[in-house]
Amino acid sequence: MKRVGAHVSIAGGVENAPLQASKIGAKAFALFTKNQRQWKSPELGDLSIERFQRNCSDGGFRAEHILPHDSYLINLGSPEPDKLDRSRNAFFDEMQRVERLGLSMLNFHPGSHLNLIEPDACLQLIAESVNMALDRSCGVTAVIENTAGQGTNLGRSFDDLAFIIDHVEDKSRVGVCLDTCHLFAGGYDIRTKEELDRTLCEFDRIVGIRYLKAMHLNDAKQPLGSRLDRHECIGKGAIGIEAFTAIMQNPLLDELPLILETPDSDGWQEEIGMLYMLAEQQVKGVSTPP
Ligand SMILES: [Zn+2]
Ligand SMILES: [Zn+2]
Repeated sequence: MKRVGAHVSIAGGVENAPLQASKIGAKAFALFTKNQRQWKSPELGDLSIERFQRNCSDGGFRAEHILPHDSYLINLGSPEPDKLDRSRNAFFDEMQRVERLGLSMLNFHPGSHLNLIEPDACLQLIAESVNMALDRSCGVTAVIENTAGQGTNLGRSFDDLAFIIDHVEDKSRVGVCLDTCHLFAGGYDIRTKEELDRTLCEFDRIVGIRYLKAMHLNDAKQPLGSRLDRHECIGKGAIGIEAFTAIMQNPLLDELPLILETPDSDGWQEEIGMLYMLAEQQVKGVSTPP
C-alpha cells in the first residue's frame, strides 16, 4: 500500500499534526518537532506527547509512516567549530524529541561546506555528527535527505549519500529520503517510468535500496539539473505527472512515507486524492488508447 501525506503544521502543539494529516486524507505525515527557525525551543510536555501518541493511533499512523524534519538552521558539516557545535547540540536535542514522541526517524539535510573546506572533509564531519547523535539516542534512524546541490550544499549525488553512510558506524540506524524535486534539480531524470527505474537502479547500485526510508513528492519549477531547490505542485512543474504515476505504481515504494512539500497547502487534500487515483490505475489495469 502507498502512504501519501504532507508536511503538516504543528501550530498549537505537535499533537495537532496527526489531526491535520487525517483531515487531508493522509496515510503518512512529516512535521517539525519544534519551531524550525529557532535554535532553542521549550521541551515537549508530557501531556502534549501523550496526546500526540493518542492522535497518531486514532488516525492509524505508525512510527514508520511519520517523518520528523530537523531545523533548517542546522549544518552538521559546518567548517566553523562554534557553529558545528551549536548544530550538533541542536540535532541531539531533535533526536531526543523524536525519541520522546515514540517515533523512529529524523530527516535532515546533510550540510554545506561554505567554500571553507573540501567537500570530502565536510562529508566526514557530517558522518561524525551522525555517529555522535546515534550514540546519544536510542531507536531513532538518521534519515539523510538528498539535496538539489544548490550553493555549497552537499548530498546532491548518490556518491555523497553513500560516502556519509559508509562513514556511519551503526548502519542499522541510517537511511535516505529522496526528494523528487531535489533529484531532478540535481540532474537525475525521473520524468518517465524508464527514467525513474534507471535512477532508482543507480541509487541501488551506489547507495543500496535498503537504505531508502522515505520520499518527498514535489514537482520542480526549474529544469533538469538546474541545482535550484524550487518546489512546484504535483503535475504542474518540469517533472510532470508521468513521474508521479510511476512512483505511485512502483511496488518498491510501498509503505514508505511519501510526503508532499508542495507550495499550496490548501491543495494538499486534492493532491493526495489525485496521487491515490494514479496508484489505482495500475490495480484496475487501465489501458492507454492505441
Ligand atoms: Zn528537507
Ligand atoms: Zn524535501
